[in-house]
Amino acid sequence: SAKRAGKLWRLHTQEAGAAINLELDLLSELDEALRSGNIAVLYQPKLNLVTRRIDSVEALVRWNHPKRGLLPPDCFIPLFEERGRLDELTLAVLEQAMDDAKRWHSDGLHIAIAVNISAAVLTSENFETRALARIAHSGLPAEQVTFEVTESAHFEDTAEAIAMLERFRAAGIRISMDDYGTGQSALNYLKLLPLSELKIDRMFVAQVHTDRGDAMLVRSTVQLAHELGLKVVAEGIEEAACLDFLTEIGCDHAQGYFVGRPLAANDLAALAAATLPA
Ligand code: C2E
Ligand code: CA
Ligand code: CA
Ligand code: CA
Repeated sequence: SAKRAGKLWRLHTQEAGAAINLELDLLSELDEALRSGNIAVLYQPKLNLVTRRIDSVEALVRWNHPKRGLLPPDCFIPLFEERGRLDELTLAVLEQAMDDAKRWHSDGLHIAIAVNISAAVLTSENFETRALARIAHSGLPAEQVTFEVTESAHFEDTAEAIAMLERFRAAGIRISMDDYGTGQSALNYLKLLPLSELKIDRMFVAQVHTDRGDAMLVRSTVQLAHELGLKVVAEGIEEAACLDFLTEIGCDHAQGYFVGRPLAANDLAALAAATLPA
């Protein structure tokens, strides 16, 4: 009926309105969240498949929102990216990760860190200057820092972004191609970007021990990467059999819930200490 349609329409517009309000709130609350320490960084361990030690981590951002609870990155990263506010957030994550890595190193835990870098910040000179300064200030070797750039980002028309990646690479920072295999032009990126590492998306990894097609794709990707002089990280390992397969085919690092969930800095240090020599 018309009455019902009207009611549905009001419901729909209320929902849309609520979503827009949430976005506006989050945009205006970022500065306060950064000041009050409500932007948190968790660390997911990466297992070195040769040494069988946790020697590196990926920094994953969370927002401890006072009213809305713990927000995952998918709730706010795309929004900040769209509005050109991702520099500040990314720098905050990098800063926190460098502080934690420095503390781990002084405790004898030599853990390398990886930070997710959206292509959107690779055009910001402010980001470049501050990121390099922050890494230099930490006193840690730049080789201990990896920038994960997602393949779904569009680099084709951005010579500028590629040039910035090259400068980061020249400074010693490792560049990893994240979500490898899910984008449109993987081979093109292998040619264009100054990579140190491929990170194979969990879509190909999770079932690799049972799915013959996935097994062939992952095995040949590892081979290709090694021939190009790149390291390989597999993400999304949820089972022991998956880890065994990856070890067998010579994959370099493994990440996923089976190795470890994203953890607070202290918990990560405790886990890594159990696998690293003091
Ligand atoms: P990503 O870079 O592909 O990160 C991996 C995501 O997969 C993380 O989700 C992680 O918690 C999840 N994951 C790890 N192991 C497993 C597993 O075994 N099974 C399954 N099903 N999932 C697993 P999270 O933390 O929600 O992050 C989602 C995405 O948000 C990240 O995907 C990354 O693209 C983005 N992101 C996170 N932190 C940052 C950041 O500081 N800056 C930027 N630009 N993006 C970020
Ligand atoms: Ca990543
Ligand atoms: Ca990924
Ligand atoms: Ca992903």
